[in-house]
Amino acid sequence: MNMPKPSKKIRLDPMPVIVARRVDTLLSLAKKEVRGDEKLAQKYVKLACVLAARHRMPMKRERKHLFCKSCYRPWIIGYNVKVRLDSKTRRAVYTCKCGKKKGFPYSKRFPRIFPQTTL
Ligand SMILES: [Zn+2]
Repeated sequence: MNMPKPSKKIRLDPMPVIVARRVDTLLSLAKKEVRGDEKLAQKYVKLACVLAARHRMPMKRERKHLFCKSCYRPWIIGYNVKVRLDSKTRRAVYTCKCGKKKGFPYSKRFPRIFPQTTL
């Protein structure tokens, strides 16, 4: 006799979605605050990083372009970060106000993402 298979219970963990939403909220708050209270903006970014690390959520490409990993300053091009394109290594080099440099590769496969366009 053919017994119907018991339906697989779909378990959706809501935590990754909640954490991602919270991280995005904190990053957008930081971006709004950076021209006024820079310390508060840095605190928001640090909170977002701690939250993501605690839940083992990788900071993906779109979010990596938004802040400095060493001083937690949210990046605004022309205000606290400058972007130069290095054609030899095919990288967009972001130089933060604190002096730290970060290179992001660019190509046809990976179009450049600027902080202004993502959030
Ligand atoms: Zn920095």
